[in-house]
Amino acid sequence: MKAGMIGLGAMGIGMAKNIAKAGYLTGVYNRTTAKAQNLAEELDLIAFDQPEELAAIVDVVLICVSADQDVLAMIEAIALTIKPGTIVVDMSTVSSDTAKQAAAMLAEKQAAFLDAPVSGGVEGAKNGTLAMMVGGYANVLEQARPILEAMTGRIMHMGPTGSGQAAKAVNQIMAAGINQAVTEALAFAQAQDLPMDKVIEVISGGAAGNWFLQHRGPTMTRGTFAPGFKLALHHKDLLICQSMAKQTGASTTLIDMTIADYERLMAENYGEEDISALYRLKTEIRIEN
Ligand code: NAP
Repeated sequence: MKAGMIGLGAMGIGMAKNIAKAGYLTGVYNRTTAKAQNLAEELDLIAFDQPEELAAIVDVVLICVSADQDVLAMIEAIALTIKPGTIVVDMSTVSSDTAKQAAAMLAEKQAAFLDAPVSGGVEGAKNGTLAMMVGGYANVLEQARPILEAMTGRIMHMGPTGSGQAAKAVNQIMAAGINQAVTEALAFAQAQDLPMDKVIEVISGGAAGNWFLQHRGPTMTRGTFAPGFKLALHHKDLLICQSMAKQTGASTTLIDMTIADYERLMAENYGEEDISALYRLKTEIRIEN
């Protein structure tokens, strides 16, 4: 099976390296061509100039780009050349509606589509330990599984097209709550003049311990907010969650609060920082890094 990867951002680069290590990656495409050329040189792959050139020669097209319109632009491009029977796996975080639109566009070319968003951050992408939530036909997932296993520690089939993205929205709402909880609690600890490293270490070993506290607690309390997961991307995800929640009348308290907080930070040009930059609001620190 020959795979091609579109999108070599913070997530895509680690994913691509792991697929290459497993022996499946034929070539890569990235909008900013230098990134594709550098990786192709490092791994001895093809750097495609256009996504449609990549789609013409592989069996599985993997996509990890930013937002809904970017995914649809890539699907439109690859639909021009894609072979019948090709599987397209989109690992970007977008809406369920976008996933359904992508699947319909590809079905016209007899190509299959899986929405397969991931969780686990850039560390998970680098280490091949991502959790993947998949929507689409189960038999298509089984065909693509060997490639997806090279990037993941866990793959869960959620149901029909769009259900992978719906599951990812659950994750993003929970991530907003965890960010609110950890940043507010650590700002409180700081106001109590507690030794922050000890607070993070002892709480990580108890009932309130979590991934975000362990990985981002030490950096946020030192005033560094390098992504990680860009705040502007999580903001984009929460707008998707807000609109999906409104369709069903589900609670949006946490989503609304976090969107408003992120918008304050984005207005101060912190959108490219890690989501842990929420700590700036909780402590009212504005440190220029
Ligand atoms: P990123 O570092 O900003 O990279 C975005 C990638 O998408 C870049 O390769 C970019 O190309 C490409 N891109 C954007 N718009 C495009 C367009 N219109 N046409 C072609 N390529 C385009 O983002 P990331 O952190 O890798 O995230 C990628 C996706 O994974 C997002 O949907 C995000 O929500 C999701 N995600 C991220 C994390 C995380 O922790 N970072 C975790 C789980 C899921 P250029 O290089 O030319 O800009």
